[in-house]
Amino acid sequence: MATLADLMNMDLEKEGVTKIIAEYVWIGGHKLDLRSKARTLEGPVTDPSKLPDWNYDGSSTGQAPGDDSEVILKPQAIYRDPFRKGANILVMCDTYTPGGEPLPTNHRFAAAEVLEKVKEHVPWFGIEQEYTLYQAGTNWPLGWPKGGYPGPQGPYYCGVGADKAWGREIVNAHYKACLYAGINISGINGEVMPGQWEYQVGPCVGIDSGDQLWMSRYLLERVTEMADVVLTLDPKPIPGDWNGAGCHTNYSTKEMREKGGMAAIEEAISKLAIKHVEHIECYGEGNERRLTGKHETASMESFSWGVANRGASIRVGRDTAQKGYGYFEDRRPASNMDPYIVTAKIAETTILFDPKDHPLPKSSDKPLSHVPAPHL
Ligand code: ADP
Ligand code: MN
Ligand code: MN
Ligand code: MN
Repeated sequence: MATLADLMNMDLEKEGVTKIIAEYVWIGGHKLDLRSKARTLEGPVTDPSKLPDWNYDGSSTGQAPGDDSEVILKPQAIYRDPFRKGANILVMCDTYTPGGEPLPTNHRFAAAEVLEKVKEHVPWFGIEQEYTLYQAGTNWPLGWPKGGYPGPQGPYYCGVGADKAWGREIVNAHYKACLYAGINISGINGEVMPGQWEYQVGPCVGIDSGDQLWMSRYLLERVTEMADVVLTLDPKPIPGDWNGAGCHTNYSTKEMREKGGMAAIEEAISKLAIKHVEHIECYGEGNERRLTGKHETASMESFSWGVANRGASIRVGRDTAQKGYGYFEDRRPASNMDPYIVTAKIAETTILFDPKDHPLPKSSDKPLSHVPAPHL
């Protein structure tokens, strides 16, 4: 007699079934609102343009209330499905009205336009996704005594041992699920706050970065669901002397990666300085609770950069400074940022924005008063 697990794990192909299951994934609303549903398709598909559009009831997700609440899903990227395996796939989609207009919550559409415009500069993004695991039914991190606090921060970052690391099975399951799916996950580590972890996705080129990060978040939601543990991307889950969670965004263009690229890096940083306030505005909700100037963050009130400086808005790695080319890290984005918005914004400011049309604000303009001269 087959068990539930036998049926779930059945290799359909081996059983002579030629159809596949495609799980369509989309962003439902703001914050971390990922949704998905499955459909049967004929035979294997590897090209998203060969997949049919689909739809869902937007009133059920609070996304498109009103008379015509149908939302159209357009397939954009395909990944292998680590849960169903075989030729079954996960499909990253974006969302449109029946008339073909992108929904206000569809930030992929505008991002793809910007990243298409700058494609000859081949922008690479490496995103460090920090996240916190909660015990189910509480808003309290994994490993923390119910209603109480663990010992102070210090031993937990990259920590090992039952009194320092909680959730490693989830982290490792997610790591392999990402690799199986075809996500360019580059590593994992335990974070400073107990119950908090990080993984990195990248380097990815252009819009692929946002697609992959969103799909990696989907996989994390699925894996934590299986473990009955709850994922939060809140940028400061526990107030006070506990580290918040960010989404450091590492970035380079072709010019920055070539010999002498430091000039391009410095130019990009000076443009980011001018646009500091605009960037902060789209770097995630609740980020003001995190960017206090403490706990390895720079205050959001001013822009700063430095080599190997983890208290700056932008950090240039020691390796890049020594070689004179490479990449830099924007440390400002919060864990709950939308990678479509952030990657496009960084590319737009550093490549398309011409500061000649927008002279540096006067030093009386508060948020920029601490901009240091761009030199190393
Ligand atoms: P940190 O030292 O800040 O913890 P991590 O090692 O966690 O940095 O993450 C760095 C990320 O930057 C990785 O995803 C890595 O693949 C990516 N990366 C490496 N080189 C580049 C580059 N030239 N451009 C953009 N991203 C890069
Ligand atoms: Mn990191
Ligand atoms: Mn980190
Ligand atoms: Mn970092």
